[in-house]
Amino acid sequence: VGFQKILTLTYVDKLIDDVHKEFRDKYRNEFQQKGALGLLNGTFDFKDDFMRLLRDAEESSKVRAPTVMKTFEQSLKSQKTVKCMIETRGEKPKEKVKNKKNKGSKKDGTEAVAVPSKASAADKQPSAAGDKEELTKDEILQKNREEFFRRHMKAGEKSRSPKPDAQKEKGKKPRVWDLGNSNAKVLDYSNSATNGSAEACPVEEFDPDMALGDKNREPGRLYDLEYESDDEGEEEKVVQNPSKPSVKKGGLGGMFGMLKGLVGSKSLTRDDMDPVLEKMKDHLIAKNVAAEIAVQLCESVAKKLEGKVMGTFTTVTSTVKQALQEALVQILQPQRRVDVLRDVMDAQRHRRPYVVTFCGVNGVGKSTNLAKISFWLIENGFSVLIAACDTFRAGAVEQLRTHTRRLNALHPPESHGGRTMVQLYEKGYGKDAAGIAMEAISYARNQGFDVVLVDTAGRMQDNAPLMTALAKLIAVNAPDLVLFVGEALVGNEAVDQLVKFNKALADHSMAQTPRLIDGIVLTKFDTIDDKVGAAISMTYITSKPIVFVGTGQTYCDLRSLNAKAVVAALMKA
Ligand code: GDP
Repeated sequence: VGFQKILTLTYVDKLIDDVHKEFRDKYRNEFQQKGALGLLNGTFDFKDDFMRLLRDAEESSKVRAPTVMKTFEQSLKSQKTVKCMIETRGEKPKEKVKNKKNKGSKKDGTEAVAVPSKASAADKQPSAAGDKEELTKDEILQKNREEFFRRHMKAGEKSRSPKPDAQKEKGKKPRVWDLGNSNAKVLDYSNSATNGSAEACPVEEFDPDMALGDKNREPGRLYDLEYESDDEGEEEKVVQNPSKPSVKKGGLGGMFGMLKGLVGSKSLTRDDMDPVLEKMKDHLIAKNVAAEIAVQLCESVAKKLEGKVMGTFTTVTSTVKQALQEALVQILQPQRRVDVLRDVMDAQRHRRPYVVTFCGVNGVGKSTNLAKISFWLIENGFSVLIAACDTFRAGAVEQLRTHTRRLNALHPPESHGGRTMVQLYEKGYGKDAAGIAMEAISYARNQGFDVVLVDTAGRMQDNAPLMTALAKLIAVNAPDLVLFVGEALVGNEAVDQLVKFNKALADHSMAQTPRLIDGIVLTKFDTIDDKVGAAISMTYITSKPIVFVGTGQTYCDLRSLNAKAVVAALMKA
């Protein structure tokens, strides 16, 4: 008990508890009769009981078979290669390619063979070490996505992962992107009318399974973000060997293990906490939490804990860690919950469409996540009118047109009592976005659409004229919900965007009480592994709830935020 730093006995707390109870129960009568003084004078024959309890405790700790750290060869990491992460249509997930990134082997066309043989295991190590340098940004993204899917996806969702063809032809093949089409003709929109109808679009290949993602999910359900803090592969393992000191590697426990101190029943001082807080601050920053926010968070934890009397067997580290965890969960839990489905039903009762405006910088995933949200709404039985108010970026209208067509293919009127569940309201390019949104809303009202989703042009947060235009669009159309779309990938930059969008809406609004951002759509969560700090920074700074989380490029890759899952990812080493 006294030397936990050297020998971590997992059963100590339980043993003390058991001894306490056994002793109390055994001598209950004596205590009651003789009182406290009896304790001092009495003789207690407790040795046998103690030895039995100790044996029990030791046994119970052994029941969990001692886990031995995996060797590198046994770990999944050693079998992971860049090649195996490239998704190619028609490949099966189970037969993931476990070949190392090796130009030579690629040329041999041997990529479909999974051979964790001795020889390959031996030369895997340098390759894995060299992986980082060889990877391009895209490959790193792809790798992170793979990692994300491995952790988050349930069995059914795995069906989207790469599946090697039974027999692959030799030689290098061009990369085929998901939902993409390598045919240049298909990509040539020059002849299609920008103002045209869906029929004017070239008909391209569309694989409903691919666009849908997980088929095993419950339709219309917005799943919580999942995160397993106990990662089966790379999680820390404690080597249990009574004769040797326990070795704890990685993990916050490991990271702060050095600082672990038995404080006893004394009150916490700043000096006790400072080293732990310093480490924690660095840890948060490494997880993409904005530096300033990490400092503020640690400061608030320190203030909260200063002077607090600690329990006998609690360490400074665990106390600080727990306080920080609680603070983080609190930040992520919104003061104002946005319940879109309830609000849509409320609008329905008032016979008006529920209007949502999406804003954000270019390329963050506004249109894609708007389409995912449409899909989710349709699955919940609501009809959606998409207003194409990005009248600036080439291809923006076509992109929405494609989504509309696909969504209608997945939810044809026949399955909804002849009702068209999603329609696009478009007026081409170069027109006033605020005007189009207004027309779309009145069209939706007349046609009985339940929801209008307004896509707006991406704009940089510092571009005053464009921000004025956005403020106008929002002021004129008074949407029920203004969502800021930000990507988790960029970390601090997303915080800057969010703050400036909010400020710009306030500054450029003509109204006395300007309409600000109501909530956040945090996209590309699948590309960040456990560097989830942007979620904390964004909610901490603005107190705006994260309403949706984008976790991929299919219609099912939409989640609601689960504060505990995000905090678990954040605390993980
Ligand atoms: P917009 O310019 O803001 O409308 O952005 P787009 O909707 O065109 O998205 C830009 C790119 O980001 C597209 O390639 C999308 O497929 C991709 N994207 C959007 N959301 C996600 C997401 O949650 N995860 C991943 N991995 N990619 C996403």
